[in-house]
Amino acid sequence: YVGILDMVSTKSATFLHTCFKCHYRGKSSFPNKSRTTKDPKKFSHTISLPKTLFPHRLTSAKRVQVDADVIKNCGFSELYSFQRGKAASDEFVLHDGPPYANGVPHMGHAINKILKDIVIRWNLLCGKKIHFVPGWDCHGLPIELKVTSSENLKRLSPLDIRKKAREFATRTIADQKHVFRSWGIMADWDSPGGCYRTFDNSYVTNQLEQFYKLYEKGLIYRNLKPVYWSPSARTALAESELEYNANHKSTAITITFRVLNAPDDWLGGDELFALIWTTTPWTLPANQAVSYNSDLSYSIVRDGSGSRFLIATSLVSNISNKLGVKLVPVLHVKGEALKNLKYEHPISRSSHSFFHGSHVTADVGTGLVHTAPSHGHDDFLIGITNNLELKCMVDEDGHYTCDAGNDLSGLNVLREGNEKILNLLRENILHKEVYVHSYPYDWRTNRPVIIRSSLQWFIDTNSIKTAAIDALQKVEILPTRNVEGMIAQMERRPYWCISRQRSWGVPIPVLYDSDQPVINSELIDHYKCLALKHGADFWWTLPLDELIPKALRNSLDPETLSKGQDILDIWLDSGLSWSSVLGGKTADVYLEGVDQFTGWFQSSLITSVALQGKAPFSKVIVHGFAVDETGRKMSKSLGNVVDPQFITRGGPNLKQDTAYGVDVLRWWVASHGLQHTTISISNRLLEECADNIKRLRNSLKFLMGSIDDFPEYLVLDPPPLSTTDKYFLLLLQEFESRINDFYRGYQYNRVCTAINNFVSNDLSSFYCHVTKDKLYCDGSKSNKRKAVQYVMYHALNTLTKAFGPIMPILAEELYSYHPHRTDDSSPYFFEFDKLQPIHLDIDNVEKTELKSCFQLVKAIKENIFKEEMPINLKSSELKCILTVDSPTYDSLKLLQEDGESVNSDLTAILQVSTVILNKDEGIRGYSIEARATDHSLCDRCRRFCVEDSNDEICDRCKDVLEVLPTVNVSSI
Ligand SMILES: [Zn+2]
Repeated sequence: YVGILDMVSTKSATFLHTCFKCHYRGKSSFPNKSRTTKDPKKFSHTISLPKTLFPHRLTSAKRVQVDADVIKNCGFSELYSFQRGKAASDEFVLHDGPPYANGVPHMGHAINKILKDIVIRWNLLCGKKIHFVPGWDCHGLPIELKVTSSENLKRLSPLDIRKKAREFATRTIADQKHVFRSWGIMADWDSPGGCYRTFDNSYVTNQLEQFYKLYEKGLIYRNLKPVYWSPSARTALAESELEYNANHKSTAITITFRVLNAPDDWLGGDELFALIWTTTPWTLPANQAVSYNSDLSYSIVRDGSGSRFLIATSLVSNISNKLGVKLVPVLHVKGEALKNLKYEHPISRSSHSFFHGSHVTADVGTGLVHTAPSHGHDDFLIGITNNLELKCMVDEDGHYTCDAGNDLSGLNVLREGNEKILNLLRENILHKEVYVHSYPYDWRTNRPVIIRSSLQWFIDTNSIKTAAIDALQKVEILPTRNVEGMIAQMERRPYWCISRQRSWGVPIPVLYDSDQPVINSELIDHYKCLALKHGADFWWTLPLDELIPKALRNSLDPETLSKGQDILDIWLDSGLSWSSVLGGKTADVYLEGVDQFTGWFQSSLITSVALQGKAPFSKVIVHGFAVDETGRKMSKSLGNVVDPQFITRGGPNLKQDTAYGVDVLRWWVASHGLQHTTISISNRLLEECADNIKRLRNSLKFLMGSIDDFPEYLVLDPPPLSTTDKYFLLLLQEFESRINDFYRGYQYNRVCTAINNFVSNDLSSFYCHVTKDKLYCDGSKSNKRKAVQYVMYHALNTLTKAFGPIMPILAEELYSYHPHRTDDSSPYFFEFDKLQPIHLDIDNVEKTELKSCFQLVKAIKENIFKEEMPINLKSSELKCILTVDSPTYDSLKLLQEDGESVNSDLTAILQVSTVILNKDEGIRGYSIEARATDHSLCDRCRRFCVEDSNDEICDRCKDVLEVLPTVNVSSI
C-alpha cells in the first residue's frame, strides 16, 4: 500500500495520514499473530486503486499555464452568452460599478471584480440567469491631465484633448479587460454591448436624454457657485490643478463691523463692534454675513477708549497682544447668544446677520468669520443654508465689475483693487499685517488663483433627498452598520454641482443666448441623433448652425447663440449607468468599496429616485480596501503595493517569486474580502490560502480517482447504502445547505472555513478513512464498493459546487477529468446541467437514529484509547469487546450486524481488528475491554482479520480473488 499512498499524493496527503496510521503503517509488534510478508507486492494488482490523471499539485510555471489554458479552453468566454440563452425564468442582476479607465489593475480591482464573480457564479449554479455587464468610467479630469501633462500640451484644443484622452482610455480598458479576464471573471467581454463604456455613443445619447428629463422635471438649475478661478488663464480650475505656494504673502487686516442690535447689558452705554480678521480684504464688498460657532464662548471686551469688541474668549489675549492694547473682558456669552445679532456692512452700510457655522474655530483670527458666499466654499454653504443672495462682483479677468461700485469697478482684485479696499476701510481697520501662508496658484501659469463664483449647473438634491432616503429604507445594505452613514451623507448634501469647465466629458447640451440657456426637447432629440452617430464629439466638431434642427432654424438664430463650454461631472456619467445598462430592471445587487457611499451608490440613488422614483438596487454590498500586513494603506511612496498579477503569475524568476495562481488570489478574496473595512494581504495569508487549496486538491484527486470506474447509470439507481454511507450523505447534505446559507448571506469567509472543516474532518478523517478498505479491497463490482463510489460521486459534485463560485478555474480543471463527461452535453462544469442533487430518502426519525449512533461510536472510540492497552499494541491489533445495554446494542447494530466481526463498519470506524458486541441487560450504557486480537495480518488488505494464522489472506479477500478476472492494473 505504500504504492497507493504514492499515487494519491507523494508529499502531503494530509487526509490520508490518518487513514494509514492504523492499518497500514509499519509492522505489527505482536509476535504470535503477525507473519512477515514474503512478497509485499504479491496482491497489489488485485487492489482497486484510485485512478485519475488530475494532478495533485502544480509547479509555478505549470500553474500559470493551467490558469491560461483553462480560461482559454473551458468555455470561460462563452459561458456568459451560453447562460443568457437558457430558459431560466429567474434572473439575477448584478450591476457593475465602472472602474476608472486609468492605470493598471490593483488589489482593489481584484477584490471588487472577484467578489462580484463569486456572487454571480453562485447564482448561476442555483439555476438563475445572470445579467452582468461590466463597465468603465472613461471621462474626467485625471485622464485629461494625464494626456495633457505628458508633454508640453498646454495649448491643445478641446478636440485634440478629447482624441488623446479617448485613445488613452481605450488602451487602458483593453489592458484592464485582459487582466479581469485572467482572473476568470464571467462576462461577455468580446461582443459589442457585452460591456459598457461611458464614452460609447449609445451611452452618451442616453445620458443627454436623462439630462433633459431631469431638466424637464425642474430638478436641474443654473446658479452661481464659488470655484477656483485662474484670472491669468480665465478659467475655472479643479483642485488637482492647484499648486500651493507656501510663502505667499497676503495683507491681513483686523477690522470692525458695528453691531446694530446688541442687548443693553452687553453695551454699558458704549458701542459694540465685532472684530473680523481676513487675509482677502478684496472680498469684503461681497460680504453677506458674519459666521460664529455656537459651541464657542465669546467675550465682550473693553479697550479703554469707549469701544467694546466682540471676540472669542480664548483669543482675547492673542488679540490684545496683536493690537498692542489691553482688552478687558466685561462679559462672557455663549456662542448661541449671537444668534439674532445684526451688523452694519462697513462699505455699503447695509444690515446683515450673524449665522452659526461649524467651520468657525478659535485657532486664528477672532472667532468671527467674514462670510462672502461668492468667494469661499464654507461661505457658500452658509449662504445656501440661510438663503443669502449670491453676488459675484469679480469678472473672469479678476477685476471688479460695476456692481462693486464706481470706486472699485475695473480694478484688479489682487492688486490695486485690494489696496483701494484698504484705503476705503482705513477707519475700520485696527491692525494690518503681512501674512505669509500657503496659497493656491494655477499650476500652468504660476499665478495666484482666486475663489470666484461662476454660473454652474446643479441637480436639486434638496428636493430629492426625502424620497431618496425613503427609497433607501427599502434597500438592504450589507454590512448593516453602513446604513446610517449613507443616510447621513444624503441628509448633508444640499446640492450637486454637475458642470465642469473641462474638455474630456459629455457636453452639457445647452446653447446660450447671451447668458440665457436655450434648451428644449427638439434640440435634445437632434443632439441625440448626432451623438449616436458621432459620439459626444459632435458638440465640438459641428458648427453651431448644424446643432439646430431645420425645423427650429426660423426661431433660433445661430448668430446670436453660443455653445455651452461645460461638460458634465463624471459622477453623473456613472450615476446614470443603471438607465443605460439595466433596461428598466432593478439590480439585485450593487457591490462596491465602502468609499462609494459618497460616490457611485449615492449618485446612482439620486438619479434613479429623481427619474424613476425608486432606488436602482435592492441590495447594496460593501467591501473594504486592501492594506498591507501592518494595516497600512497601500501606496507607491510606502513601497508596500502588492500587485495582483504578481500573486497570480509570480515574478520574473518563478523559483524566487512563486506564482500562486488565480485560485489563491480568489480564495484570499473570498476568505477576507467582505467582513472588514480593511483587508490585509501578506505572504503568510497567501501561503495559508495555498495550503487550504492544496489540501482540497488532494481530497478532490482522491474522490475523482475513486469514481473512475463508477458507471453513470448508478447515479440514478444506486446500490443499497450502508449506515455509514447514509450518515455521510446526511453530513454532505447538511454541508451543502450550510454552504448555500453562507453564500446567500454573502459570508464567503464562512464558505471557505466550512469547506476546510468539511474536507479535513468529515471527508478525509471520517468517510474516506472508514470506507477505503471497501473501495480498495472489496470486489470491484461489489455493491458495497459501488455504494461508496456513489457517495464519493456526490461528495465530489457537492464540493465542486461549494468551491466553484470561488475557484472556477479549479472547478473546470477538475471537471475536465470527470469520468462522466460526455461529448453530447456541454463538457464544462459551469455549463453542466446534469449534476444530480443528493437524494437521501430518510425521515427525521432515521436521521436522529443515525446521528445518535455516530455520536455513540465517537464516544466509544475516545474511550477505547483511555482503556488500559496490552503493551506495544496499535489499535489495529486490538480486539474490542463491547458489553452494552439494549438501546446501545440496537444503535450499534446499525454498524455491525454480527456479534463478532473483523470487517464491519464498526471495526473500521473504531480502527480495531475485531469488535465483539455483547448485550447485557445488567449494565447501563456500555463497557469496553481491549485485548490483543487473535487474528493475523492479511497480506492483501493489511488488516488483522485472518482467522487461521497459516493463511496469507482473509476470507473476504479470498472471496474477492475467486471471482477476480485476470486484472491488469495500470499504474497512474
Ligand atoms: Zn484481507
